[in-house]
Amino acid sequence: MSKPPPGVRRDFPLDRLTTVRTGGAAELFARAGNDAALSELLGWAASAGAPVSVVGSGSNLLVADDGVAGLVIKLDGDLADIAVDAPRIVCGGGARLPAVAASAARAGLAGIEFGVNIPGTVGGAVRMNANAYGGELGRVLEWVEIATADGLQRRAPEELGLGYRRSSIADGEVVARAAMLLEPSDPEAVKAILGEMRRRRHEAQPQGIRTFGSTFKNPEDPRAEGRSAGLLLADAGCGGLTIGGARFAPKHANFIENTGSATTAEVVAVMAEGRRRVLERFGVELEPEVQTLGELRLPWR
Ligand SMILES: Cc1cc2nc3c(=O)[nH]c(=O)nc-3n(C[C@H](O)[C@H](O)[C@H](O)COP(=O)(O)OP(=O)(O)OC[C@H]3O[C@@H](n4cnc5c(N)ncnc54)[C@H](O)[C@@H]3O)c2cc1C
Repeated sequence: MSKPPPGVRRDFPLDRLTTVRTGGAAELFARAGNDAALSELLGWAASAGAPVSVVGSGSNLLVADDGVAGLVIKLDGDLADIAVDAPRIVCGGGARLPAVAASAARAGLAGIEFGVNIPGTVGGAVRMNANAYGGELGRVLEWVEIATADGLQRRAPEELGLGYRRSSIADGEVVARAAMLLEPSDPEAVKAILGEMRRRRHEAQPQGIRTFGSTFKNPEDPRAEGRSAGLLLADAGCGGLTIGGARFAPKHANFIENTGSATTAEVVAVMAEGRRRVLERFGVELEPEVQTLGELRLPWR
């Protein structure tokens, strides 16, 4: 392997870059603050045969306890900027969604209010097609710039394979930047919506816990009879189910909480038990929403 570009760190712990705070280290880790730095990293990784992955805010991420082979990149600097050019907002892939929602509100732009409660970055939100309260990222996206070792490519939302909490963005493709086309509105009205959404979220979800949000997607299976994954898990008696330092949160059974020093293996064991109980009780196979980094074997796959 040729010498990596300056700033690349070895054996970099990733637990602190995730909201659940579990998992091992990246073999190689680097921050990229602009297009040139990102391009240099991607070019080097391709020539060295090192797989590339990206971590955003780590708010939907489970990192393998044995760590992650290859190069893990986190975007910051210019690649986390938010530039308002009404009615458009152009964001680096590393920009945080609540900050984007707040900037839009200050500028009197409506359409991205739902982002106020999503503790992820624009890149993670594009990859996951984040949604909440009837809003969905895919509906406000104008274009997305994807970086690979071959350069930057601009894609329209129709080219992103967006669906319920998914996209066709492949491993190794980095969302460097995204533009959202928003609706001009009254700043005070948009701010009031943000406040209302924060209040509703505060009531519905446990606060201040180490979690990656929804563990499983809401099922489309008719046997679920319209119930959410959280309701199915609660009805199957999973609220508070604990293995080691990981448990289904008592207030929200689709959230797994790291109560102290959980390992990713313990989180996976809680997932597997919850999934088993829902399958046994209702015949519904829950599919994980949480994304994984590293060699992580989910026991039912
Ligand atoms: C308390 C809580 C509440 C949540 N509520 C919601 C909600 O209401 N709606 C919702 O949709 N989600 C919600 N989530 C989940 C999560 O915040 C979203 O999925 C978010 O979009 C993930 O962004 P991230 O930057 O944290 O991505 P990460 O968790 O870091 O990564 C997720 C995936 O995206 C990839 N990725 C990250 N950045 C990039 C990039 N720049 N380019 C390419 N790929 C990238 C990663 O490799 C990984 O595959 C919640 C999470 C928590 C903890």
